[in-house]
Amino acid sequence: MGGWALAVHGGAGVDPNLPPHRQEQAKQLLTRCLNLGISALRSNASAIDVVELVVRELETDPLFNSGRGSALTEKGTVEMEASIMDGSKRRCGAVSGLTTVKNPISLARLVMDKSPHSYLAFNGAEEFARQQGVEVVENEYFITPENVGMLKLAKEANTILFDYRIPTAGYDSCGVGAESPLQMNGLPISVYAPETVGCVVVDKEGRCAAATSTGGLMNKKSGRIGDSPLIGAGTYACGVCGVSCTGEGEAIIRGTLAREVAAVMEYKGLSLQQAVDFVIKHRLDEGKAGLIAVSNTGDVAYGFNCNAMFRGCATEDGFMEVGIWD
Ligand code: ASP
Repeated sequence: MGGWALAVHGGAGVDPNLPPHRQEQAKQLLTRCLNLGISALRSNASAIDVVELVVRELETDPLFNSGRGSALTEKGTVEMEASIMDGSKRRCGAVSGLTTVKNPISLARLVMDKSPHSYLAFNGAEEFARQQGVEVVENEYFITPENVGMLKLAKEANTILFDYRIPTAGYDSCGVGAESPLQMNGLPISVYAPETVGCVVVDKEGRCAAATSTGGLMNKKSGRIGDSPLIGAGTYACGVCGVSCTGEGEAIIRGTLAREVAAVMEYKGLSLQQAVDFVIKHRLDEGKAGLIAVSNTGDVAYGFNCNAMFRGCATEDGFMEVGIWD
């Protein structure tokens, strides 16, 4: 292998009854994002610039759960989080608890580039956004009618939802029906279709980067922080690979999933796909999550242990695909 490669995801775990037109919209958005990344890479953009570019596009489109279209807290508000990592330099930036920043991934990039820190959250992150002059909007901008409806259903069912799920009797995904609800830290969650977004890129210099952005879980507690902004859990990049995860954040955090892919490549000498398969099998609770990854040699891989993951990838030799189901 060799050359550049990129992968993008729009969340792991998908409503098996997702209407065909929504599936089509998702595939079109993933394709648009891949094409955006491809043309940037053809113009010699660096991996870190491309992951930011692609995730900004996903945040701006309301289809997935990041930026506009973010999942809502139990209070009906939006608290967004994101992280980015430049593997070639081992630099990273992360943000949580954003309520007005239009593109959280770009604020994470600014934390990396323009602050002495790696991670800013809530009021301090919002203040930093003002200092940096990034675009801010009212919280309402992020809230879509669809998500308001989802929150209502989630509250009625007293459940923490990953987007797109409507907790009805007999509903089944990942092999778990309503009679035996999945639990997350003791709370019921129904079958899941999270739609956090992420992008991983290796550029033609072999530099890897990763970026992840989300609104978190529907009906989450205000103040809840998931895996997406946590370097090593939801996002990681180093000299060897770049990884972005999606799924039940609490499980991803427990498994330090993203870093683990790099670790088994480094310490066990596994290939990228072998490392992804190993980590999904041995570090992740069943039915919880998925991830996308690239290696410094231009390989691209993904894996998930739930029913589906919105994803796409492209490589310099002209290969390109998008998919949803297993
Ligand atoms: N991992 C995200 C979180 O737990 C959810 C997702 O991937 O959709 O916040």
